[in-house]
Amino acid sequence: MTKGELEAYREQLVQLHHRLNGDVSSLKEEALGNGGGGNNLSNMPIHMADLGSDAFEQENTLNLLANEQQQLEEIAEALDRIRQGAFGTCEECETPIPKARLKEIPYARYCVECARKQERRS
Ligand SMILES: [Zn+2]
Repeated sequence: MTKGELEAYREQLVQLHHRLNGDVSSLKEEALGNGGGGNNLSNMPIHMADLGSDAFEQENTLNLLANEQQQLEEIAEALDRIRQGAFGTCEECETPIPKARLKEIPYARYCVECARKQERRS
């Protein structure tokens, strides 16, 4: 991989990190209830039906939040790998990760085959 390519991936990762970070903070506010802080009591749903759908929505938000936080960690580690010169190499079998895969998932740590094996394991 050339320096230019590496720099392009780094740029992509930084931007993705930035975007997800913004997402995560607005999701957090959503999960905590309408902008956080303030008087949340006035926002309490009155009807049981509302209560149910709110709980459901909150769970969805929390799932999404966990997902994005996980992604943020992966991105941070990918940036570390760029610094260490290990970026773009499968952590499992040490073959280069195909560019098509890196384009799709710039923080991928495994080649396609090893990623499949990992998925099967978990
Ligand atoms: Zn591999």
